Amino acid sequence: MNAALGFDTYLVMRHGLKSDDAVNSTPDCSDKSIPGHKLGCYFCNDVTAPGNSQKDRTLDQQCTVTRPGISSIAGGLTVELMVSVLQHPMRGYAPANCVEEPFSEASEEASPLGLVPHSIRGFLAQFQQVLPASHMFSRCIACSDKVLCEYETRGFEFLLQAFNTPDYLEDITGLTQLHKETEAAEIWELSDGDSCEME
Ligand SMILES: [Zn+2]
Repeated sequence: MNAALGFDTYLVMRHGLKSDDAVNSTPDCSDKSIPGHKLGCYFCNDVTAPGNSQKDRTLDQQCTVTRPGISSIAGGLTVELMVSVLQHPMRGYAPANCVEEPFSEASEEASPLGLVPHSIRGFLAQFQQVLPASHMFSRCIACSDKVLCEYETRGFEFLLQAFNTPDYLEDITGLTQLHKETEAAEIWELSDGDSCEME
């Protein structure tokens, strides 16, 4: 479970769980839901490794300035989401809805306490909340098979390398390569644009 705060926004989420047993015994993704063992973690939507978030940023970008109620709101929702996960028969493997539809107690996504969303994203400026669900990312710097395997086999030595070398996680997950490919694609796109203008 985690909660992340911005100045007037917050994100509360449960992380996907991995298990070979779950992969074999739980239903696969449908149009309407993502099973718990395929849900992403907090870092799945990032394409960079965590860096120094206190450096070269204004105070609000360091997440040190927030509207006064936001940590209590996000903290409370984190507890409630965890309680709903614990009440669901499949616990952390509970599937998460990925389409907005009226809540039905009969759906397998529901716990006795109601929905068990993957994440809750809130916007205080509009006093609104949305419930996005997202898949795990195969090159995630936190939950990808490569990272989990490195941690299992090398333990603290792996952690130390990740702490001391900022690009290490991006290198082993293939994000560095992905960045290079994206840059190359942008250059190709630019040169196409240039030649069009010259014609
Ligand atoms: Zn992840």
